[in-house]
Amino acid sequence: MTAAAETLSFQAEVGKLLDIVAHALYSNKEIFLRELVSNASDACDKLRLEGLTDPRLLEGGAEFRITLVPNKSERTLTIKDNGIGMNRADLVANLGTIAKSGTAEFLSRLSGDAKKDAGLIGQFGVGFYSSYMVAGKVSVDSRKAGEVEGWRWISDGQGSFTIEAVDLPARGTAITLYIREGEDEFLDEHRLRHIVKTYSDHIAVPVVLEHEGKEETLNSASALWTRQKSDITPEQYKEFYHHVGHAFDEPWMTIHYRAEGALEYTGLLFVPSMRPFDLFNPDRKSKVKLYVKRVFITDDGHELLPSWLRFLKGVVDSSDLPLNISREMLQHNPVLAKMRSGLVKRVLTELKKKAEEEPEQYLAFWSNFGAVLKEGLYEEPERKDDMLDLMRFAATGEEGPISLARYVETMQEGQEAIYTLSGDSVETLKKSPHLEGFTAKGVKVLLLTDPVDEFWIRGIHDYQGKVFKSVAEAGADLSKLAGKDQEAKSEDAGKEEDGKLDALLALMKMVLGEGVKDVRRSDRLTESAVCLVAAEGEMSLHLERMLKAHKQMEMTPTRILEVNPKHPVILRMAGLAEEEGAEGRLRPRIELLLDQARIVEGDPLPDPHGFAKRLAAVMLEE
Ligand code: ADP
Ligand code: MG
Repeated sequence: MTAAAETLSFQAEVGKLLDIVAHALYSNKEIFLRELVSNASDACDKLRLEGLTDPRLLEGGAEFRITLVPNKSERTLTIKDNGIGMNRADLVANLGTIAKSGTAEFLSRLSGDAKKDAGLIGQFGVGFYSSYMVAGKVSVDSRKAGEVEGWRWISDGQGSFTIEAVDLPARGTAITLYIREGEDEFLDEHRLRHIVKTYSDHIAVPVVLEHEGKEETLNSASALWTRQKSDITPEQYKEFYHHVGHAFDEPWMTIHYRAEGALEYTGLLFVPSMRPFDLFNPDRKSKVKLYVKRVFITDDGHELLPSWLRFLKGVVDSSDLPLNISREMLQHNPVLAKMRSGLVKRVLTELKKKAEEEPEQYLAFWSNFGAVLKEGLYEEPERKDDMLDLMRFAATGEEGPISLARYVETMQEGQEAIYTLSGDSVETLKKSPHLEGFTAKGVKVLLLTDPVDEFWIRGIHDYQGKVFKSVAEAGADLSKLAGKDQEAKSEDAGKEEDGKLDALLALMKMVLGEGVKDVRRSDRLTESAVCLVAAEGEMSLHLERMLKAHKQMEMTPTRILEVNPKHPVILRMAGLAEEEGAEGRLRPRIELLLDQARIVEGDPLPDPHGFAKRLAAVMLEE
């Protein structure tokens, strides 16, 4: 072949990334080998799978292996595999652009501070590009399975790479690193042996070291999940988790078990200790890998786990599915459905155990993934009994998040419902006027701040027969609750005062007209003069705001304005309500009360200009 090498530029982001990687003050440079071995193993997995439907792709041997060849005199280290390989287009796309969202995320997090950014390399892993931590130049020879042309990709990592056609004897990829001065350790067999043992022992393909004409297999080369639990160290589990989950944190929990009987499969699942950046990606897909009899099938588009467990990483290996199972067959597959229900049960049981045995640690999990788990309440309400025990909530009168069991234990005499209030943050909710009466009676209120709360709570209805009830809804009846304050209800407030208040309420209704659905006397307020509540059964105020923010809703359903009969402002206004010309004098104040209730609720004022005018008028009054 004679075609000359072509020079192409890296995508701008790759250039930036390479610059950082090459100058990184990163202390674990050895991870480059883990990345390259991991890629080689992925390439073997891909070909093994494609070979099932097209055996011709496996011509030249189906014995997969990864070979490391250090060469001290040339100062090169070569990592070879006989996996799927790459053609020209693959090389350009995979090694010239950033297709992975993880790497893009890495770039967006860069601070410019060399030390901090170096840490991020370990956190995100920068895949193939990590080679440039130890090499000044990298050359990639590759031939794709089923194709005849070979290609050579070369780059010193400075803005561009070249590609040319070359003759290659067999399929697969050989990556040669030209090791930099000062990084000689990566040419040393002992060091390489140690690195592979540390990071890549779990790789199911043999990793073979070639030196002085001898060959030595460095890893155990058996799929980790097929081994006995007792033969696997925590370190090995961790490295496997990093490999399979493309993750860099510690696993928070490891679940490894074999199901036997009607259905046979092995699950090795991990709960991360850090929240992955793509947790709330719109696709909400589980990335757990499906294997059939040790052959990787897919990590995408399967129904092995529900999306509300999408934080799980790991593998599930089935002995019951056929090897040549197609994507279409994976949809609505009865075996898969049974495995799914077994896996879900197992995961929920393990979580529950952890919640009971190590409640502190459970809270760490909860703060990462609680909002995701709650989606399950909405999507599979039939699991509510198992799920509700796993939920934790911020609550008034409590330091940290609490369980529903704890809430029920501390309910007041006469209290029948579990009271909730939803909003954007615990801090603002705690100041809400809706809570005043409940706090005064020592009744706890759950503070719900995840958007998903608004959705599941409508379908779940109750916990152990105690209904969920929003304190921002009319009808959350405080009078039945004995509570702490034994102060008699407002019966002692004389008939005369009552009459005046009725007159004020009637006047308020008239003045506010369409602006509110009703004006009522409140028994929930102790400090504030007024608050807005949703009519019973109507959408909560918070949900309404969320829908508006997403332009899902235009109309404002009118709310009920509740009035605190004991508040000095209200008492004063009630005193004026029966006087001649009361309407004219009270109108701006009444309107201001509604404005104020809206502000406290976090609602925008429909007429800020009018608000300013009213306020000025009232301030001028003697
Ligand atoms: P990731 O492995 O997370 O996708 P990498 O930067 O490690 O990211 O690799 C980028 C891509 O390059 C891989 O997804 C794969 O398509 C391709 N690739 C890398 N190494 C090999 C290899 N040895 N054989 C085949 N393809 C490879
Ligand atoms: Mg990789």
